[in-house]
Amino acid sequence: MLFLPLPGEPMNDKSVITGKTRIYGIIGYPVTHSLSPVMQNAALQAAAVDGLYVPFAVEPDQLATAVSGLRALQVCGFNVTIPHKTSIMPLLDELAPSAVQAGAVNTVVNQGGRLIGHNTDGDGMIISLAKDLECGIAGSKVVLVGAGGAARGALAAFCRAGVASVIVVNRTLQIADDLANSFRACYPQVKLQVSTLPVQAELALSEVDLLVNATSLGMAGEKIEGLSLALLSGHAKVYDMVYNPTLTPLLSDAKKCGLKAANGIGMLVAQGELAFKLWHGMSPDEGVMQEALSCFYATQQRLDSL
Ligand code: NAP
Repeated sequence: MLFLPLPGEPMNDKSVITGKTRIYGIIGYPVTHSLSPVMQNAALQAAAVDGLYVPFAVEPDQLATAVSGLRALQVCGFNVTIPHKTSIMPLLDELAPSAVQAGAVNTVVNQGGRLIGHNTDGDGMIISLAKDLECGIAGSKVVLVGAGGAARGALAAFCRAGVASVIVVNRTLQIADDLANSFRACYPQVKLQVSTLPVQAELALSEVDLLVNATSLGMAGEKIEGLSLALLSGHAKVYDMVYNPTLTPLLSDAKKCGLKAANGIGMLVAQGELAFKLWHGMSPDEGVMQEALSCFYATQQRLDSL
């Protein structure tokens, strides 16, 4: 974070907010839970960028006004989180292919006054799968649990990355069906199947290489009822997009079954790193966002134990 020096301390150009400091931020409602300010400010400081990243709580009925305000204030870029990821789309000047395919925007770049919407969530997940699970996607067979916004971004990224097949499993079958149908025409080479929970017995889960949870189940310690990891073979890997708590019931089950598994922290970091690159034209220093999160979690734990 950027700080004004205390009286008597030397000033340097990394620690002072001036008239030239560029403003970035995140809009959401609520936004208090967001860890993006922690990651982005650490990366700005490490790269000596004269910028500041701040949270903006924007109520749903204030979204259009807020976007006009961000435009008028010449904010250089911002992230978008729940509940605005889809509703912001018609308010922007242009959408990158990543946002169109995902049907959602998580990053906005202000390019000379034009607001361009991007989506870095799906590619962030692919990067995290490679890094945290050594999981290559091309040619693989995937089970995607969930059919909401995160699942749509994930399915788009899987298709772009050349997945062989995806079984979309969702509580509401119609939503899974609609999601799969919206990708069939663009990616006829990808075998897309759908199932409700419990997973239909005829689906060959034993052949699956990767199972991804893109539902909100796990955030409050819930199990995914109707999904048994015992149906997977020993080589399958499990990825949970949920990152808080860091150990969900799904990840705990995966460990019990001896399956390699990871939570969504890597995806959170990778989507932030991709957003940073879109805004600043360079990648953040390697590991700086991850380290900022680890420090933050460690501090939280210390405070919670007091
Ligand atoms: P969303 O659009 O609201 O979708 C929620 C999904 O969860 C739907 O498929 C819904 O099924 C399912 N679901 C909710 N409650 C359920 C229940 N009781 N039983 C069975 N299924 C249930 O949410 P989202 O934006 O896609 O986010 C999903 C998760 O991804 C969240 O945990 C979010 O934190 C995480 N995420 C993580 C990252 C990261 O960087 N790691 C990024 C984006 C999202 P129905 O269709 O049947 O309602």
